[in-house]
Order: sequence, then C-alpha cells, then structure tokens
Amino acid sequence: MRNFCYIQQIERLLSIENADKIEIAKIKGWNIVVEKGVYKPGDTCVYFEIDSFIPESIPFFSFLSKYSHVKTDATGLRGYVIKTVKLRGVVSQGLIVPLDELIDKGLLEYRQYWLEEGVSDQLGIKLYERPENPTLRVQPGGSFPSFIPKTDVDRLQNHIEYFDTLKDMQFEVTEKLDGTSCTIYYWGNDGFSCQGVCSRNYDVSYTENVYTAIEKKYNIIDRIKRTARNLAIQGEIVGPGIQNNLYRLTTHAFYVFDIYDIDKKTHLSPVERLEVFHLLNSVDTSPLLQHVPVVFTICHAFKDAFTNMEDALDFAARTLPCSKITPSWTTVEGFVFKSIGLDAKHDRVTFKVINNEYLLNSKFVGLRF
Ligand code: AMP
Ligand code: MN
Repeated sequence: MRNFCYIQQIERLLSIENADKIEIAKIKGWNIVVEKGVYKPGDTCVYFEIDSFIPESIPFFSFLSKYSHVKTDATGLRGYVIKTVKLRGVVSQGLIVPLDELIDKGLLEYRQYWLEEGVSDQLGIKLYERPENPTLRVQPGGSFPSFIPKTDVDRLQNHIEYFDTLKDMQFEVTEKLDGTSCTIYYWGNDGFSCQGVCSRNYDVSYTENVYTAIEKKYNIIDRIKRTARNLAIQGEIVGPGIQNNLYRLTTHAFYVFDIYDIDKKTHLSPVERLEVFHLLNSVDTSPLLQHVPVVFTICHAFKDAFTNMEDALDFAARTLPCSKITPSWTTVEGFVFKSIGLDAKHDRVTFKVINNEYLLNSKFVGLRF
C-alpha cells in the first residue's frame, strides 16, 4: 500500500494575497493552506495526503467536522476524507498536523521519527476506498499474480526530484481515464499454461463480473494466444456504473494503457505497445480493442512541457478541453507519463499528474484553522 500519511518537514511558507489568517505551507510538490503563524520552515509534522480517511471515532480530529460531512467507506467505517480544496483562489491538498502535538496527545509514541516514515497504522488512518458500486462488486477469487506488476502510478507531487534528475528523459503522454483497472493475461510454455482476469488488486477470473465480461466481449485471452507471446494486457474499463460514468457511455469499454511481456519481465515500450495493440486487433473480429488517447507520442516533459510543479498542474488543467474519448463535456482527470527510455537503474519511469480542476469537483476537507 502506498505511503499516504507520513512524517515531513515544512519546506517553505508563502503568503496569500489579501489573506491575513492563512498561508501556504509547501511540502514536496504539494501546497497546503494552513493557519498563519503556526509553522516555520523546517518544522516537523505529519502530512496526510489527499484521499486519507480519518475515522470519526478519533476525537482529536473532530475539528474536521467543520469542513466536511462524515462519509462511509467500503468497509462501513465512518470518517472524514481529505480532499482537494480551493481557498482564496489557492488550491490546498492534504492536511498537516505538528508531530509534537500528536505525540503530546498520545496519538503517536514518544520517540525519534525519520522523514517519510509512515504513521498511518499508528494513527489508525486508512486510504479512502469508496463503497463499491454494485457494477464493480465482485468476489476476490485470488491474489494478483506476483509475476505481473500492478497498475498503480505515483503522483508527480511525490517525486519533485524528477524535475532535476529526469530533464533529458522523453515520455509518452496519455490521457488518464477514470474507470477501473483491469489486467488480463495468458502465459503458456511446453504444454503448460495459465491465464487470468484481474481487477486492480485481485484475480477475479472465476465469477461473472464486469472484468470477465470485458474479457469475453473482446476475446482478449484468445487474442493474446494468437500473438504467440506471453503477455498481460492492462487497461481501464469505463462505462455505466463505474466512477459515475463521466464519459456517458452506454456500454462498458476497455482502453488499453499498458502491455507487459511476462517472459522478458518488462513493459513494452510505447512504440512496441502500439504495434502489439494493432496486432491484437488484427487477429480477431470481436469488437476492436481501444487504446487510451495518446496526447503526445514523444514529449520532453521536464524541459518542454513544464519545469516546475506549478507548470505541471497547469499542463494537466489546460492540455485538453475535454476527454478525448467522449464528445460530451468532461474535465479530463489527468495525464499519465511513461518514459520511452529507461532510467539509471534500467527501469521505466511513470508518473501521473491529476487535474486539480477535476479534483475540485468533489466535496472538500483538509483544513485546520
Ligand atoms: P489512480 O486512478 O489515481 O489510482 O491512478 C492509477 C490508475 O490509473 C491505474 O491503476 C490505472 O487503472 C488508471 N489509468 C487510467 N488511465 C491510464 C493511463 N492512460 N495510463 C496508465 N494508467 C491509467
Ligand atoms: Mn483511477
């Protein structure tokens, strides 16, 4: 699970025009609106990223009730979701609480903490999982195969070092679709074979559900077999009952965003992915697979597209007026960047930049003053 509630230091404080009670605290690539005068640069705090879920049962956090309604998560727990908010024209993302205060109140034990140390378990904080829409309700049949990477992508805000270290790296830029992640794979060798259909975190092959229905509709496992390669096809399912169906589709559709070569243990490069994608479509007459919109085939992200986090957020808000997959109006969720080459550790680099305008379309919490 990703680290979403951890020890940080306030990097800088910036004032907000015409605001005398609040200011901006900067942590990594994030801006957080805080009460003026409470923090100094270098102060140690606990930072709760957006989507942190704070149970209502922890009295210390009752101040959040001023800013948000209590929500119920997928497990039935009640609490507050930390969201993106806009105040005096400034976007604020996340919640900061001084470390000392949490120690004084007995919520964290008295000891040394290191930077980035996760404290969500100690505090009893979870990542918010929204109650599942019936369309997506499915019995987890088994665990996600260990020989295929999950589809999770890190946020650029947590990797501001990239602005320095990846200046020369080229990226493919694709539109990020807001649906549900699906991985479908086939592996065969010397008469042995295995195959499966997976949701974001589980194998769900053995029941009828939206994921297995997509496999059937597009005949994906059969298509993989006909390429004579051992591959995992990873894509986003969008349509009715999924994330409010903001693309206003009438049936479920599958948009490929990655192809993984199981034998070579590597994702296909963007160019090879598109070749194999066309091959998959040419070997069968079932409905054609689609690919997530490619916005730039090659982009020198940290040189040409943006040079700091502010620019990157601007890029996410302005590059497309609406989603490329639908004529109806929608704010684009964001963009996923996948490196064309490999980094010094011979890995590909991926990151997402989410459009703050899109995040602001939900109800907010994450303030304290
Ligand atoms: P998030 O939805 O914020 O957790 O971001 C990661 C997820 O974005 C992945 O697990 C994918 O399911 C999804 N996704 C949607 N569009 C894309 C895309 N173009 N490239 C990669 N992942 C994508
Ligand atoms: Mn998503």
